[in-house]
Amino acid sequence: MATYTTTNPTTGTTEREFPGLDAEGVERVLDQSATAFPGWKDTPAEQRASILSKAADIYDSRKDELGRLIASEMGKPLQEAVDEAELAGAIFRWYSEHGPDLLEREELDPQGAAESVVQTRPIGSLVGVMPWNYPYYQAARFAAPNLMAGNTIILKHAEICAWSSEVMAEILHTAGVPEEAYINVFASKEQIADMIADPRVRGISLTGSERAGSSVAETAGRNLKKVVLELGGSDPLIVLDDADIDQVARTVAKARLSNTGQACNSPKRIIVPNRHVDSFVSTISAAFSQASVGDPTDPEVQVGPLSSVTARDNVVAQVQDAVEQGATLHTGGRSSDGPGAFMEPAVLTGVTPKMDAYSEEIFGPVAVVYGVDSVDEAVELANDVGFGLSGSVWSPDLDRAQQVADRLDVGMAYINEHGTTLPGLPFGGVKRSGFGRELGRWGMGEFVNTRLRRTA
Ligand code: NAP
Repeated sequence: MATYTTTNPTTGTTEREFPGLDAEGVERVLDQSATAFPGWKDTPAEQRASILSKAADIYDSRKDELGRLIASEMGKPLQEAVDEAELAGAIFRWYSEHGPDLLEREELDPQGAAESVVQTRPIGSLVGVMPWNYPYYQAARFAAPNLMAGNTIILKHAEICAWSSEVMAEILHTAGVPEEAYINVFASKEQIADMIADPRVRGISLTGSERAGSSVAETAGRNLKKVVLELGGSDPLIVLDDADIDQVARTVAKARLSNTGQACNSPKRIIVPNRHVDSFVSTISAAFSQASVGDPTDPEVQVGPLSSVTARDNVVAQVQDAVEQGATLHTGGRSSDGPGAFMEPAVLTGVTPKMDAYSEEIFGPVAVVYGVDSVDEAVELANDVGFGLSGSVWSPDLDRAQQVADRLDVGMAYINEHGTTLPGLPFGGVKRSGFGRELGRWGMGEFVNTRLRRTA
C-alpha cells in the first residue's frame, strides 16, 4: 500500500498523509469505473456538458482558495496558482460549450450507398497519470474532453499534489459527475501497471517524464492499449537579429522564471545572434538576479521554491556539472540557505554538445543562452535535441519569423510569444516529447471510437 505524503516545499514540513489503495481497492476501482461507463456514456451529451459547465463555475468561484492550496503544496507563486485554477475552469467551460457539437455525427459523401456517417463514441474506462507542476491544468485537460466524450476516468495524480487531486475530484462530484465516473486514486506504480494491463481499462494518458512515459507505454503496448504521452521538453527560443534584444531578454526572463522554471514548454534554450549575446546575457542575468525568490504566498514574490529539495538539488547539480564541464555561469545557480527547496535563478553560456546540459532537460529556473552566426545555425541548434515540444521565433518581421518557425521540429511553434496554452488550441509534441494531442477538438479525438455506419 503506497501512502502519499505531501511536504510544503517552502518550509520542508510534512503537511498530510493519504493512505494508498490496497489490492482490494484496485479491484474495486476497476470494477466501479467499468460499471459506471454505460450509464455515463448514455447520459445525454447536453447533460454532461451542463455538469462540466458547473465544474467550471466552481473552479471560478474557488480560484483563490485553490490557488493557495497548490502554492503550499508544490510552491507555485500565488497569482500564477490562481491563474492556473482559472485556466482549469476555462478548459471545462470550453468543452461544455463545444463538446456536444464535436460529438455530432458527421455525414460523409455516401459513395454509392444511401448513407455513410461517422459517429464519435467513447471507448470506456481510462487511466490518467498526471504530474505536479500544473496540478489543476494537467488534470483538467485530460478529464474535461474525456468526461465530455462519455469516458470514465481513474486519475492517479503525483504524490506531491495528493491534496489538490482530492479537491479536484470533489469539485467534479459536486458538479454532478457520478463518483464512479471520476475516481481519484493514491496508487503505486505497480498498481497503475496492473490497472493498465486489466481488460476493463481501454486507454492511458500520461503527462510526466520520459522514464515514466516509457514505463507506462511499455505496459500499454504489451496489452495493446492506446496511450497518449505528454513528456519533457527543452524548448528552443530563437531571437532574430532585428529583434529588440533588451525587450525580448526581459520578456524571456519572465517566461523562463514562470512556475520557477518547472514547465515542460519553458524556453530552456535561448538562441541569440552572436553579436547580441553579451547584451542579451547582461539583461537576462540582471532580471534573474533581481527576481524576488521566497514564500510563494507572498504576492511580491516572483520565484517560489522548486517542488522538493530533491528536485532543487538535481537542478543545482546540473548547473554545477555544466560549469565543471566548461560552461560559464553568469549569475545564481546555488541552493539558498535555510529550509525549503529554493535556489538562485541561473544563467549559463558556453554549453557545448559534449556537455550533459546540452541534451538534458533542466527543470528549474536556469536559462541556457547560445550564440549563433546565422539563421541556419540557429535552426540546426534548435532541432539538435531529442525533444520536440514547442519552440518560438522572435522578430518584428513576421514573414521571416514564420519561415524560421516552420523549420522547427516541434509540436507547437510560436512567433513573438512562447508556450501559450488555451483550451481550444492543440497541445503536444514530437520526438521524445511524446505523442498524441490534448485540448481543443484534438484532445477529444484521442480516446474515442471514430465509428463508420454505412447503409447500402
Ligand atoms: P514524473 O516523475 O514522470 O511523474 C509524473 C507522474 O507519473 C506522477 O504522477 C508520478 O507518480 C507518475 N509516475 C512516475 N513513474 C511512473 C511509473 N513508472 N508508472 C506509473 N506512474 C508513474 O514526472 P515529474 O518529474 O514529476 O514531472 C516533470 C516532467 O514532466 C518533466 O519532464 C516535464 O517536462 C514533464 N511534463 C510534460 C508536460 C507536457 O505536456 N508535455 C507537462 C508537464 C510536465 P509519483 O508522483 O507517485 O511518482
